[in-house]
Amino acid sequence: MQLAAGCSWCSCHFSNGIGMNIKGGCHCGNIAYELEWPEDAPHIPARACDCTFCTKHGGVWTSHPQARLRIEIDDSNAVSVYEFGTKTAQFHVCAKCGVVPMVTCVLEGRRYAVVNVNTFSNVEPSALQRASASFEGEDLGSRLARRARNWISDVRIAGRTPS
Ligand SMILES: [Zn+2]
Repeated sequence: MQLAAGCSWCSCHFSNGIGMNIKGGCHCGNIAYELEWPEDAPHIPARACDCTFCTKHGGVWTSHPQARLRIEIDDSNAVSVYEFGTKTAQFHVCAKCGVVPMVTCVLEGRRYAVVNVNTFSNVEPSALQRASASFEGEDLGSRLARRARNWISDVRIAGRTPS
């Protein structure tokens, strides 16, 4: 990969003008990901969700509809997929270290995702635009439409299970 110098506001790097290549994962390394952030979106929104799960886990989420997310799971038996409430979103919890790097949602056959900015490994905290978010009271139709609009829409999960 060819790296261009140029990102002055954080420790990330740009790869061939595609955008920022963010790496991250859970604490023990069982769940790793690469998030390709679009070049024309220099700031990363970070929304602290106030639902009961995210409050307990410190979930602070980001997404961009043009971002690309590649997830690599080392041992898929050690990933717990947790759902609650409307059961339309899957929280991927590492069963070894307890970290929740991402949430996914499948809408009309396409997988969408948001990523927990607390699991980034190469982004300065100052690059994040922090805000709180509350989705209480949102009806299911608007919730799913919002995900289809705002969540990362290019998501692939590669995993292997030890034999
Ligand atoms: Zn882990």
